[in-house]
Amino acid sequence: MAVTKGQSGKQQRGSADASSLLPELPKATRRFKRRRLRCSVTIKTLEGNAAIGEAVDVSGGGLRFDSRNELAVGDRGTAQIRVGASGETLRVPVEIAWRNQVDSGEFVYGLTFTDISSADRFALLEAIYAPENGTAGFVDAASGPDEEVQKAGHEPTTPAHNAYYMRLVRRMEQVKKIDPSDSDRILFARLMQGRPIRDVLSELEIVPRGTVEEWLGQLYNVPFIDLLRHRPEGTDLELIPENLAVNHSVVPVSRSDDGLVVAMADPSDLLTVDMVRNRAKGPVELRFALLEDIATAIDNLYHGASLHSVDKLLESMPDKTETFGEGGPGIEDLETLRRISDTAPIVTLVESLLRTSVEDRASDIHLEPYADKISVRFRLDGVLRELRTLPKNIYPAVVSRIKIMSRMDITVRHVPQDGGMSMRYKRKEFDLRISSLPTLYGEKIVIRLLEKNPVFRSLRAIGFSERNYEIFSPLVKRPYGMILCCGPTGSGKSTTLFACLQEINDGTTNITTIEDPVEYRVSGVNQVEVSAKRGLTFASVLRALLRQDPDVIYVGEIRDRETADLAVRAALTGHLLLSTLHTNTAIQAIARLVDIGVDPAMIGSSILGCIGQRLMRRICDQCAEDYEVPLDEQMVLQELVPVATPKTLRRGRGCEKCHESGYYGRLGVHEIVAVDEGLRRLIARGADSTQLLDYVTSRGFTDLRDDALGRMLAGETTLREVLRVTA
Ligand SMILES: [Zn+2]
Repeated sequence: MAVTKGQSGKQQRGSADASSLLPELPKATRRFKRRRLRCSVTIKTLEGNAAIGEAVDVSGGGLRFDSRNELAVGDRGTAQIRVGASGETLRVPVEIAWRNQVDSGEFVYGLTFTDISSADRFALLEAIYAPENGTAGFVDAASGPDEEVQKAGHEPTTPAHNAYYMRLVRRMEQVKKIDPSDSDRILFARLMQGRPIRDVLSELEIVPRGTVEEWLGQLYNVPFIDLLRHRPEGTDLELIPENLAVNHSVVPVSRSDDGLVVAMADPSDLLTVDMVRNRAKGPVELRFALLEDIATAIDNLYHGASLHSVDKLLESMPDKTETFGEGGPGIEDLETLRRISDTAPIVTLVESLLRTSVEDRASDIHLEPYADKISVRFRLDGVLRELRTLPKNIYPAVVSRIKIMSRMDITVRHVPQDGGMSMRYKRKEFDLRISSLPTLYGEKIVIRLLEKNPVFRSLRAIGFSERNYEIFSPLVKRPYGMILCCGPTGSGKSTTLFACLQEINDGTTNITTIEDPVEYRVSGVNQVEVSAKRGLTFASVLRALLRQDPDVIYVGEIRDRETADLAVRAALTGHLLLSTLHTNTAIQAIARLVDIGVDPAMIGSSILGCIGQRLMRRICDQCAEDYEVPLDEQMVLQELVPVATPKTLRRGRGCEKCHESGYYGRLGVHEIVAVDEGLRRLIARGADSTQLLDYVTSRGFTDLRDDALGRMLAGETTLREVLRVTA
């Protein structure tokens, strides 16, 4: 009953590691567990033996299965698998790849499907990924798709999206002959992790970067269109009214001499194609667009959600002559002002301003009055960009509208004010902090957008390199000690530490944060806001907190001796303490604590590690291109990368998606000092930053700039960003 002939390869692969049956996920996603589907299975072997039991982990390629019945490795037969709520039974030829006997006398088997039809495989995948099954029937019930999505991505994963991507990926197999294991990886990344499908295809190296759209177009033999870059022009809305657009996932894009261009989520849906052709009464050109992009386009087209449609709104102002003089209206005009700020165009304008800022992922909106215009600027990826201008005459009404919404006083215009409001958009909630400042030409308004339950990304997702992750992640798992995150304001320190908390937050630890102010609410974490008014300082809260049996403490910032002393003491008495310091480098954090007045011996024995970091803008993937490095840049480059200096680098040409900036999104670059025994002794002895740096350098420390240069050479960011950020 041992190994039969020809099975050596399987045997090796089988060993004791159950996960080897599942398709290998790429490094970046391997740590996200697939939901482990539980279903009942009956095996009948060719020899006539049978085993009944429960599958605890099913993939498109095989399953893991517990049973009291004994079968041998190498046995072949048929598995009857009951899947899904309907209880449909699949019959799949299988082979026993490995077997383990557990203490209770039960066997655990690894089965590979020797020949599975694509229909059966997709039935299994559907059961694994379908959200309507909820978490019942899964081994690890806690990790439903929503939670996974929370952790990793932004793309919607409703039942409609599941059904859509099942069909789409199946079509990829049929038309593009992708490997079945790739189908599984694509579905996992898109439906469980909420990652954008185009990124997934290139990251999994299924489609070469830059050819994804062409490849997608080949699926239906219809050109692919990116509706974010090519925004529909808003023509022919009567021809395709909203209910039709929503029900059939189709939008009019533009009208050319050749006819009407429409985008469809499923160009193989011939009934819809026919219907559009009939209505158009003329030639129709089809384009293929993703379901979620069509939904956004419908929002923009039929609800004027986008700021890009604002010009039409302005034309429809009720009375364009009703303008205000220099400096806004007098107090006697307040009623008029209140009335106009309540009219549909102004309400819609402000609403679309807010929505557009969310769509564009802006962190702040600036409305700046000048002599002749109002400039609307968004902060995108840390840099301000002018989006458009507004005519001056409507500005007082816009400001009043914003003030009314955020409970500020519209009669006060010459004193700074602040207010707040919340907003829901696309199933996300935002806290808006609004401030006004009287300037020469009127009130400047700044709106800061904070997502209420943001997607706290994992350590890997915030851009740790493989190497840095290996160094850093063990530190977070230590039961006590101090971890410090260093960098200037806006370098993403709190994002990193929240990612750490996310890693720790498994419901079994008491996590408390002390913040100034609390910006994001995190479930499962006790958050305390410091308040000078109420006498709550970092130090006083920390002192009180230590009596509350916390396991993990996050202190927003260490600024003074008292906080520093308490933090060190907490770290020495069985707590894991995370905090930030305003220093440029990781190593300087240690010197800073000494400067503040903490005993070096205490620092030495409490500190686990320091991490320095910066945020760099990522090259926009829509318009990325290689370019030959010109002479002046080559001189700089030669100094930075003296060995194997590249002749070409990557940059973004600028496109609509990135607002012509060439950048889209950001990535963190890091330097990490993990404190070992030698360093601990040096710190305790009071060594200065230079000596500490010499020591870690001799141990292979990579600094921020090296990490940044690595990212540049990998084509993720530009030389200019490296210089801007690590200068
Ligand atoms: Zn671009």
